[in-house]
Amino acid sequence: MQVLASKIIVAGTGGTIAGRAAASADNIGYQAGSLSVGDVLQTLPRQAMDRLVEQGVYTSWEDVAQVDSKDMGPQVWALVLARLRQWLADLEVRAVVLTHGTDTIEETAWLLSTLLETHKPVVMTCAMRPATAWVPDGPQNLLDALAVACDPQARGVCVVASGVVHAAQWVQKVHPYQLDAFSSGDGGALARVEEGQVRWFWKNEEKDHFSIDINREPAIEFIVDNRSPWPRVEVVFSHAGATGHGVDALCEPREGFEPLRGLVVAGTGNGTVHEAMDQALRRAHGRGVLVWRCSRCVNGQVVHAGGSLDTRAKDSPPALWPAVALPPFKARLAMALTLMGQRV
Ligand code: ASP
Repeated sequence: MQVLASKIIVAGTGGTIAGRAAASADNIGYQAGSLSVGDVLQTLPRQAMDRLVEQGVYTSWEDVAQVDSKDMGPQVWALVLARLRQWLADLEVRAVVLTHGTDTIEETAWLLSTLLETHKPVVMTCAMRPATAWVPDGPQNLLDALAVACDPQARGVCVVASGVVHAAQWVQKVHPYQLDAFSSGDGGALARVEEGQVRWFWKNEEKDHFSIDINREPAIEFIVDNRSPWPRVEVVFSHAGATGHGVDALCEPREGFEPLRGLVVAGTGNGTVHEAMDQALRRAHGRGVLVWRCSRCVNGQVVHAGGSLDTRAKDSPPALWPAVALPPFKARLAMALTLMGQRV
């Protein structure tokens, strides 16, 4: 019989789940990342924690960072990745629950799931209301995340919010305010958490369809090392009346700025690009900038009609920019990781 490790690390990075407002009626005017994740854990009902102990599980907590996730980026990712690698290698550790702000949780989740080849669960969670709200959602989300972390079917990185378990690949924040702010779009949810029980629809690995030629180890070393700036990759949107001027401006060298290495164009519909934007992208490509396209549509992904993702196509502009089956800001990370991997 397999004996499961008994320790769950609850790690905090800030966000609204650790947010504090001056008044409990205030769900908006708060400071994200003001409380320790240990304080948030303290708000969970004693019986719930006792139930974990009955299952032979004990928790320990650590604040890895305290940020509003609108400001998430390479510095915190370096810390989180380094700590996760240590924890996941520890035989005593069964799972990690990672709290995060809702604004960019999907980006961190995608990054971690792409880089960490782990069967141990890394369950991310968050909240839409601060911890000081009359009716905060953070404690329930944290409880649900712990239930997923304890579940023997849980694998790899996922996001738990509002009773739904999302795959890192698919999850997106789709609402700025309502409690149920996340969607897995076409992909659908992995599971639901119902009264502490997890009802699975899919296994996490079955949902990870997207594969890209990322050289994991060099990318991880690059991030954890945290000494060189990330390859500069920007996202631009195509739209009616586009001029491409923004693309030209991004390509201009500026003192104190890293040279532009890549552009992800969030195209209209099935990744189509306005002709003026396309001309500007061709000029960028001529200056050595890698160009990929995806769709600005919230659901679905670009359906390839040629122009498959060939990250080596540098010489002549392709008739169609290579398409990537990710939303724009995950595609941006995919490109940055690809460029990091190519450096070595
Ligand atoms: N701005 C906050 C953050 O992302 C929002 C939240 O957590 O809901 O940290």
